[in-house]
Amino acid sequence: MALKVPIYMDYHATTPVDPEVLEAMLPYFREHFGNPSSRTHVFGWTAEAAVEKAREQLSTLIGCKPMEVVFTSGATESNNLAVKGIAWASRDRGNHIITTGIEHHAVLDTCRRLEKEGCDVTYLPVDRSGLVNPVQVEQAITDRTILVSVIAAHNEIGTIQPLAEIGRICKARGVPFHADAAQALGRISLRVDDVHANLLSFSAHKLYGPKGVGALYVRNARPAVKLIPLIDGGGQERGRRSGTQNVPGIIGFGKACEVASRVMAEEAERLTKLRERLKAGILQRIDGVYLNGHPERRLPGNLNLSFAGVDGEALLLSMKDVAVSSGSACTSTRMEPSYVLLALGVGGELASASIRFGLGRWSTEEEVDYTIEKLRERVGRLRAMSSGWPGTVERMANARQASA
Ligand SMILES: *Cc1c(COP(=O)(O)O)cnc(C)c1O
Repeated sequence: MALKVPIYMDYHATTPVDPEVLEAMLPYFREHFGNPSSRTHVFGWTAEAAVEKAREQLSTLIGCKPMEVVFTSGATESNNLAVKGIAWASRDRGNHIITTGIEHHAVLDTCRRLEKEGCDVTYLPVDRSGLVNPVQVEQAITDRTILVSVIAAHNEIGTIQPLAEIGRICKARGVPFHADAAQALGRISLRVDDVHANLLSFSAHKLYGPKGVGALYVRNARPAVKLIPLIDGGGQERGRRSGTQNVPGIIGFGKACEVASRVMAEEAERLTKLRERLKAGILQRIDGVYLNGHPERRLPGNLNLSFAGVDGEALLLSMKDVAVSSGSACTSTRMEPSYVLLALGVGGELASASIRFGLGRWSTEEEVDYTIEKLRERVGRLRAMSSGWPGTVERMANARQASA
């Protein structure tokens, strides 16, 4: 098969809609356009039945009851609903939230806002590979703690957290546990009972579904987690998220979950091999390259590398036919080094020299090999242009050792 450029290697930012997903969505734009809240005719019933089927498809993938799924506009909204919803509903019990310094902005900025409203937030540190220490979670819990929120699998560095251990601690201490699972869903196995989660955030466009739709899993346990909704109105989604549902989007999300249930294990194996090929190819051909994140506990398609002596932005711009990103997509408009890499203890220079590769469903070996070759050429050229090289590599290696 001929190689087509540009090559998409940014599957953590978003994914294309799977053809099977699009096919499932299409009838719900025109033929079955009904409002699921219309109780008096078949147009409404058809839409409602389809939405309920999608709810089942997601619940099958994560091992929950369909009634525990709240459809939203995406993981940003789900994170806001989980964190603000709990904080607002728990004012009489406490105001302390525990999270990490490497959360997605949807959690981090939500916590910042809640601090302005009087909440106390503990931002736990992570180790060099991006892992949260469950012992530190336990030590941070007080009798004022109303929520622990930890990103399940990282969008930038791919690190997968010990959710089960953290969840077990939260459960034992009676503290609700939320995880931002936008990157985890459909990529790694995730069952609500395995990780003891009370709340999980999801986004359809990270697993080959459409943009603008997501979900929040809310455990229906006793005592039930109380959430104050962000959006009031018609009382859809059991009153937790008013507004007429995005029916075609939800149908697509459901289908994407069904496809993931089917292909996830095999796909993870293929992407891990492909990722290791990319990593080995780059490390063999280019000096002064450092892995960011955990060597094994990471998302199958994720690779994050720092290229000593090269500015990440300049490298990105010189790699026009391979779509990758530096830092997370959400901060790539700013020129600052990634706050996530800084939190891992990666120095400013190496943090600014990082590239995130995201492989996915349609990535091929040919694309990987082409990318390795392009990188070798471009990194070499950029380094030849900068006078500091190769002294830079030694300087950075020293800095790295000093900070480790
Ligand atoms: C993409 C992403 C989000 C935001 O999801 P949207 O559906 O785009 O709002 C939140 N958290 C993580 C970890 C993500 O990767």
